Formats: sequence, C-alpha cells, structure tokens
Amino acid sequence: PNRRIAIDGPAGTGKSTLARTLAGRVGGAYLDTGAMYRAATLHVLRAGIDPEDGDAVSAATADLPLEIGTDAGAERILLASEDVSEEIRTAPVTANVSAVSAVAQVRENLVRLQRRLAAGGGTVVLEGRDIGTVVLPDAEVKIYLTASPEVRARRRTDQDRAAGRAAEYEEVLAAVIERDRKDSTRAASPLRPAADAVVIDTSDLTLEEVLDRLVALAEE
Ligand code: C5P
Repeated sequence: PNRRIAIDGPAGTGKSTLARTLAGRVGGAYLDTGAMYRAATLHVLRAGIDPEDGDAVSAATADLPLEIGTDAGAERILLASEDVSEEIRTAPVTANVSAVSAVAQVRENLVRLQRRLAAGGGTVVLEGRDIGTVVLPDAEVKIYLTASPEVRARRRTDQDRAAGRAAEYEEVLAAVIERDRKDSTRAASPLRPAADAVVIDTSDLTLEEVLDRLVALAEE
C-alpha cells in the first residue's frame, strides 16, 4: 500500500535529518521538496534572472532540467545532469529561495512533480512546508515540526559550521526570522500546519526523542 508521511515545518526544526532517518527506519522512500525549490532557485540565479521578477522566474523554470532521487540513503539532485546537492545549500541560494518559491507557477510545476514521485507505491516520507496542506492533503500521516526561532538559528549555525560553511548566530537568527515571515505571509501556500497534523515542538527535545515519536506515528 502507498503510505504517505508528510513532514512540514520551518527550517531548523531538525526536519531534514528526522525525515530522512524516519524513511530509513520504516524502509520508505524520501523526498526533500525544499531541495527542489533550492534547485529552481539556483537555476534562476545561474540564468542571471532577478528572483523577484515573477514572470521571468516562471519562464526560466517552466522546463526545469531537474532530476531528484527518492533514496533515503543517498541524496541525488541533478540540474541539467550536474550534481548540485552541495551548491543548493549555499548562502546565495538560501537568500533567494523564498522569492522563487513564492511564484505560483514554480509551485504548480514542482507540486505536480512531487505528487508523481509520491505515487510510486510503498511508504514515502515527504518533507517540506505545504505537504500536508497542499501537496498531499489526504496523506495517511501528517506531522508539523516547530521550535523557537532561537533554537532553530542555533541548530542552523552549528549545522553550517559542521559542514564547513561560515555562519554567525546573529545573522542566521535574522535570516531565520525573515525567511519564516516570507514563508508564512506569502499568498501561494503559506507555511502553516494542516488542521489534522500532529504538531511537535522540538525546542526541548533531542533528535532521538522526536524520532521515537515519529516512528510511533508512522507505524500507527
Ligand atoms: O527546507 P529548506 O530550508 O531546504 O527549504 C528552502 C525553502 O524552500 C523554504 O524556505 C521555502 O521558501 C521553500 N519551500 C517551499 N515549499 C516546500 C519546501 C520548501 O516553499 N514544500
């Protein structure tokens, strides 16, 4: 049976690590939809297009040469056959992804692709902002992860430094707050929990504690 697990929430809640680990635990596929918006953003930046110019962004991403794998064990994101899994995490992409993902046409194209990838059969974990509300409103399991902006900024800073990227806590915190604001106030699919999602505040929980709850929910 096709068991779809939607995991939504803002950045810095541990969402990516948790969703990927959960997929491994339950033997399911994994789809990082944020990576898709990031790849679209990288494509726009490389084309020299202003990310705030919605019409130009729509045109440039209409035929996005994107390939994304759903193997929980190995991230595979190709843009025109080039592996961009590292580059989509860099600061210029992060700074512009909210603008690109606010373009309705971009969302329509990527949501269509997400639904197709989720229909593969078996268990699939989809991670994003609007999976439970828009992409798969009838998903079997819906989880919404939150945490305070301070906790999320601390986690992001540590994560960036661990990956060898420069990061200052105060700057990361400001960026976290700004990205939350943009993501939750945009007209197209604003960030919010689905009415029937299980909301988990991870501020005072370890990854292991959250994971236990997720596994229990996934196996219910
Ligand atoms: O999860 P991640 O931080 O990589 O997502 C990057 C950005 O992509 C988010 O800040 C949001 O603007 C956008 N996004 C989205 N819808 C999704 C996933 C990500 O709008 N389902």
